[in-house]
Amino acid sequence: MARKKVKKAAPAKKEKKAVKKSGLVTAYLGLGSNVGDREEFVEQAVFLLEKNPSIQVTKRSTNYETEPEGGSEQPKFINAAVEIRTKLSPQKLLDFCQEIEAALGRERELEWGPRTMDLDILLYDDLIYSDDTLQVPHALMHERLFVLKPLKEIAPRLIHPVLEKTIEAIYDERKAEHGETYDDELPGFKEIKGASLDDFERW
Ligand code: AMP
Repeated sequence: MARKKVKKAAPAKKEKKAVKKSGLVTAYLGLGSNVGDREEFVEQAVFLLEKNPSIQVTKRSTNYETEPEGGSEQPKFINAAVEIRTKLSPQKLLDFCQEIEAALGRERELEWGPRTMDLDILLYDDLIYSDDTLQVPHALMHERLFVLKPLKEIAPRLIHPVLEKTIEAIYDERKAEHGETYDDELPGFKEIKGASLDDFERW
C-alpha cells in the first residue's frame, strides 16, 4: 500500500514563512522583575539582548512599578517593553529569552511566583503561532495592563494580529474595565523611572 504523505503542521510552516519573508523581523518583548535590584535586572536583560548580534533593540519603554497578579503574596514588579529587530526565528528567540532568564538567576519554583527576570515574546511581526512551548501573540498579553501599558508607550498603533485592534485600543478597553476611578497615578501603575532609547544608547 502506498504511503500517505504526511503534511507538516500548519503552524510550523507559518513560523518559517515569517522569517523568510523579510530576513529581519520586528518583535516586541515584555520584561518583568520583582526580586532584588529589579531595575538593574531589567537593565541587564536589555544589555544581554543588545549583545546578541542577531538582535537590535530599537525602542524601549519607561519602567513601571506594578502590583503582582496571580494571588500569591510577593513583591511588586518592575515592568517594561522593548521593540527589537531580529534575524532569529520565534523558537530561537524564545530560547535566547530563556537563556537570559537563566543567566539572571531565575529559578522556576512557583508558576506565578517571584522572579529576577521574566522575558516574554509578546508579538513577532504579525505571526499567529502556537505549539507546546510557544504562543505568539503571547496568550495573556491583551489581558494584562502591566504588559499593555509599557507596550502602548512604544507601539500604540501596532495591530494585534488576532484581535485586529491597536495596542492603544486594547489598553483603553482593559483600563475601562477597571472602572472610572482607575488612574495612572494609583499604586500599581506608578512610573518610577524615565528611561529612553537615548539613555540606553549610552550603555
Ligand atoms: P513564564 O513562567 O510566564 O515565563 O512562562 C514560561 C513558559 O511559557 C515557557 O516554558 C515557554 O515555553 C512558555 N511560552 C509560551 N509562549 C510564550 C511566549 N510568547 N513568550 C515566552 N514564553 C512563552
